Amino acid sequence: MRGFRDVFGADADNLTQLEASARKIFKLYSVAELRIPTVELKELFVKATGDTTDIVQKEMYAFEDAGGRLLALRPEGTPGVARAYIENNFAQTSPVQRFFYIGNMFRAERPQAGRYREFEQIGAEFLGAAAPATDAEAILLLKDIITDFGVKNYSVKINSLGCAKCRPAYRQQLIEFFSAQKDNLCDKCLSRLQKNPLRVLDCKIDGEKFKNSVPKQQLCGACANHFTEVKNLLEGKINFEADPMLVRGLDYYTGTVFEFLAGASAQNAIAGGGRYDTLIKSMGGADAAAIGWAMGAERVCAARGQNTAAQDKKVFVVCMDQAGNKMAFNLMQTLRAAGIITEGGLFDKNLKTQMKQADRSRANFAIIIGGDEVKNNTAVLKNLQSGEQKTLPITEVATSI
Ligand code: ATP
Ligand code: MG
Repeated sequence: MRGFRDVFGADADNLTQLEASARKIFKLYSVAELRIPTVELKELFVKATGDTTDIVQKEMYAFEDAGGRLLALRPEGTPGVARAYIENNFAQTSPVQRFFYIGNMFRAERPQAGRYREFEQIGAEFLGAAAPATDAEAILLLKDIITDFGVKNYSVKINSLGCAKCRPAYRQQLIEFFSAQKDNLCDKCLSRLQKNPLRVLDCKIDGEKFKNSVPKQQLCGACANHFTEVKNLLEGKINFEADPMLVRGLDYYTGTVFEFLAGASAQNAIAGGGRYDTLIKSMGGADAAAIGWAMGAERVCAARGQNTAAQDKKVFVVCMDQAGNKMAFNLMQTLRAAGIITEGGLFDKNLKTQMKQADRSRANFAIIIGGDEVKNNTAVLKNLQSGEQKTLPITEVATSI
């Protein structure tokens, strides 16, 4: 099906490695896993993600179940986390909660490189935390994960969207500015001008066109101080650029927003996030400030490419004599018990096929058991890179690798 893929080979390995980096760094930052459902009430996304967003208007897989409930496959993780926070009374458990999730998201978009209909997001949400240090910590958490995974070339943009005090005036200013430019706006921007004028800044066509002339936001004192403090904390720890045109596509953002970019294509956003200080309360929960981000796992993998770090050693056990099958099989289990990655067991195939498979498996060593080895209780250890080989007592194989 278009936009839905089978993931295997190097692509599957890369995703697994990214998840491992993420879990390792989440642990260092003391962020706990939250597994949220794949399906939620459609209403949740309409209310939280926002009904003026592309995600809700055009990209949601929504359906009615047999019981007549209107459901949707999750297009993003934040609404589910916010709902869980409220339903499980997390605010009462502790004033600050830090969660991560790893899971597939669904958006009915036009499939292209880096844009799928089912894709993986790794996300983090810090709830109940209003201090600028939290924003800086969230951004550095994201940086540490992609750095641990091995992404080298990326850039970071940050901005502040202001709050309920300073944003309405800016909205109005933008409506006035763009209303005078109606003839120069694309159809999409014309239709969202009244409802969500900030999104015009995000438009790949009009945003670029009006980059220099559009009025820039004047933050209120509190927002300006907050933003300055975030930038101060990040200084020297990450390279970033403050970009007044960065607005992000979701309705719930307030204050700090940020995006990590890599590559030159239109699908160059590898991760994005920001504050959503009013979302939890607007959903009927506590007055809890929050900040979060999500990375597109496939795009982060593409930004790194193949893993060039040293791989763990691997062996392939070859047995050319039926009489040695049990010995070879036992050796495979001994090697695994010793922590060595072991493949083999093709004992019904001839030597040539087994050796070909050993090469294909990218093992570092082949262990070969033939008639003589069965007789003498030995094995041949062959280094598949250098071709060098030696015969060893079977009991010494595991310690010789
Ligand atoms: P874009 O501008 O590329 O559409 P977005 O603003 O819709 O991205 P977010 O909702 O912020 O994206 O999701 C966070 C991250 O998830 C993005 O930065 C991107 O890496 C990834 N992502 C979003 N949509 C897709 C998709 N359809 N396929 C693969 N990855 C995606
Ligand atoms: Mg999108």
